[in-house]
Amino acid sequence: MEYIKENLDRVRENIKKACDKVNKTPEDITLIAVTKTIDESIINESLKYDITDIGENKVQEVQRKYDLITKPVKWHLIGHLQRNKVKYIIDKVDLIHSVDSERLAEEINKKAIGIDRTMDILIQLNISREETKFGLDRKEFDALILSISKMSNIRVRGLMTMAPYYENPEDARWIFRKMKEIFEELKNNDYNNIKMDYLSMGMTNDYVVAIEEGANIIRVGTGIYGARDYSK
Ligand SMILES: *Cc1c(COP(=O)(O)O)cnc(C)c1O
Repeated sequence: MEYIKENLDRVRENIKKACDKVNKTPEDITLIAVTKTIDESIINESLKYDITDIGENKVQEVQRKYDLITKPVKWHLIGHLQRNKVKYIIDKVDLIHSVDSERLAEEINKKAIGIDRTMDILIQLNISREETKFGLDRKEFDALILSISKMSNIRVRGLMTMAPYYENPEDARWIFRKMKEIFEELKNNDYNNIKMDYLSMGMTNDYVVAIEEGANIIRVGTGIYGARDYSK
C-alpha cells in the first residue's frame, strides 16, 4: 500500500501549503478519508498512516464496514440520507454532513431521542444551485435553522457543501467564499443547539482552494485511494 502513503503525504503537503498561505496550521484542518467503494482491507491498511476520520456516502456501506474497521475512527456520513435509513446509522456515525430538510432533521432527532444521544449534524447548502446536487438555498436554510432550533437531540455543528466539478478549481472559489460568509454570519445566533464549528468543503479537485477560503474539514477520496472502481 505504498501508493496510499505517497498519496497521503502529497495531500498533507498540500494542506500545509494552503494553511501557510492563510495563517493556519494543518492541525486546524480535519482530513476525512472518503472510503466509498474502497474495500475494508485497504481502508484498514490505510489507517496505519494516521487517518482519524473516514467518510462514506451510503448507509449500506457504513453498515457493512462498521465492524470490519479495526481501528477506532470517527465516521462521517457525507452523502444524501433517506429518512427510512436513519435508523441504521444513528448509533454509528459521529457527524452527518448532509442534512437538507426539516423532515430528515425530524427523523434524526426522533431516532436520536430513541437511543438517548445527541446527534451532531451539518447542514448542506447548495450555493451554485446546480440541479443535480442536493442541498438548500439560503431561504430554505433559514427556515430549517429555525425548526432545528426547537429539536432537543440534534446539534448543528456547521455547514457542508459540494461544489460542482470544475476543470479549474479556481472556478469554485466564489462558492467556498460565500459559504464562509454564511458560516460567519451564523456564528452569532441565539440558539443553544446551533454552533458554527465546522465548515466541510473541498474534495480531491478543490480542497486547496477550499482551505484558502476557510474550510476546516475536507473530504478526500480519489486523492488518497486513487480512482474509484464502481463496477464491483
Ligand atoms: C465522493 C465524495 C467525496 C470525495 O470525492 P473525491 O473527488 O474522490 O475526493 C467528497 N464528498 C462527498 C459528499 C462525496 O460523495
